[in-house]
Amino acid sequence: RAKHKGKNNYQFYDAHMNVHTIERLSFEAQLRRALENREFVVFYQPKVSVLSGKIVGAEALIRWNHPENGIVLPTQFIGLAEEAGMIGKMGLQVLDIVCRDIAQMEMAYGAFGRVAINLSGAQFNDPFLLDELQKVTEFWKITPESIEFEITESMVMNNHEQAIAHMDGLNAAGYTLSIDDFGTGYSSLAYLKRFPVNSLKIDRSFIQDMPADANDTAIVLAIVAMAKTLGLKVVAEGVENVTQLDTLMSCSCDEYQGFYFSKALPFEEFMVLLESTNLS
Ligand code: C2E
Ligand code: MG
Ligand code: MG
Ligand code: MG
Repeated sequence: RAKHKGKNNYQFYDAHMNVHTIERLSFEAQLRRALENREFVVFYQPKVSVLSGKIVGAEALIRWNHPENGIVLPTQFIGLAEEAGMIGKMGLQVLDIVCRDIAQMEMAYGAFGRVAINLSGAQFNDPFLLDELQKVTEFWKITPESIEFEITESMVMNNHEQAIAHMDGLNAAGYTLSIDDFGTGYSSLAYLKRFPVNSLKIDRSFIQDMPADANDTAIVLAIVAMAKTLGLKVVAEGVENVTQLDTLMSCSCDEYQGFYFSKALPFEEFMVLLESTNLS
């Protein structure tokens, strides 16, 4: 009986594994099809000046416009795209869309703050990244000054000498860099000083319970003060209410993003918000 039960368990486990494998393979196949059919789109979330309330930039955030399921968020597919070696191709499609949109934005609106693009580790370490960037920016006739790249602490802490070389290369080509999700990794202050970055983005987890959580508030105030000392711009992520914004104002944080001002929007909707906010 025990043997029988054991066998059943084994079969159950095996079948369970197969379901996962099949699901994963079919998801991978769908991702490949999505890349071929260009089903990925880019939404834009405004970056807002804490002081003026004007839109001073935007973050490009990938979405999968799935034929059956509608808009799928990146947390559902970026990890698998990285594991399956598809992130490079996906990143190039994002880059192409963003450069096209920047060209249109600059034509319609004139000078506009930078659009930030998230880089995954594989893209950041890709020796052909600069060549690809040159191709796509020349094709759309935009300058590197219109683009900022967001990288995470873990991407630069693993091999900081190599990371600094990559950052120097991007800087020399005219791109601006920022550290995303700041506070969640292990950046040492000593290295931070050596990184050729323009700004820090404080992770949403520290903003979330501010100002009620005294520890989180103290951490945010300390990050802002430290960044200022190092001559870095500070951006707060995930601002959802006015008390969070008031706290950021009190410590002279430079910019914020969050649902309080706007979620990420399709390009046309972002342009409408840009004009109504900045030209009024
Ligand atoms: P991230 O770069 O830290 O982006 C911020 C995320 O926080 C976005 O989620 C944004 O929609 C969300 N967010 C913004 N304001 C608020 C708020 O007030 N409250 C809450 N709860 N959330 C807020 P999203 O678009 O789902 O992106 C998740 C992550 O996926 C990004 O985190 C980034 O790491 C990655 N990602 C997005 N687009 C790309 C891309 O084109 N390439 C790569 N490699 N990664 C990307
Ligand atoms: Mg980001
Ligand atoms: Mg972030
Ligand atoms: Mg984040």
